Amino acid sequence: MTADLVQFLRSRLAEDEVVARAADPELSHVFTRIETFDPEMAADERHIMRHRPARAQYEVVAKRLMLDEALASRHLVTGDHYMDCPLVTEADGVDTATADRIRALNDDYRKEFGRGPECAERCGRDPRVHRTLELLALPHVDHPDYMQALTAGRA
Ligand SMILES: [Zn+2]
Repeated sequence: MTADLVQFLRSRLAEDEVVARAADPELSHVFTRIETFDPEMAADERHIMRHRPARAQYEVVAKRLMLDEALASRHLVTGDHYMDCPLVTEADGVDTATADRIRALNDDYRKEFGRGPECAERCGRDPRVHRTLELLALPHVDHPDYMQALTAGRA
């Protein structure tokens, strides 16, 4: 489910970036109109200026960094396999022998329970990452692919 949400977010950020880059970064034509526009329209104009293309591009950069940082977070490794998250891999900093031992334990778990283990509660990496992705996706709630990306892979 996370992979679908990651792809959804990367696509929306790419779209936002394309639209922002195609526009005048500072919306110069709008800015010159603010001073002379009627007061009731000024709020709309101020809103547009607040979300001008230059800012939209910074927001795309910031959201990509937040996404990358969330995805780079690691599962809990303590050195005690009773405490380590069962989803630990070499990417979390353990050596291959340790990762192989964890994979073997996970295979045993799958045989016994018919499904793989989940990120341990004391670790919480996967739920934290998923929550971050959900929050980053929230502004795109009206996109036709939003619900599919949010719920893909759920039982
Ligand atoms: Zn974990």
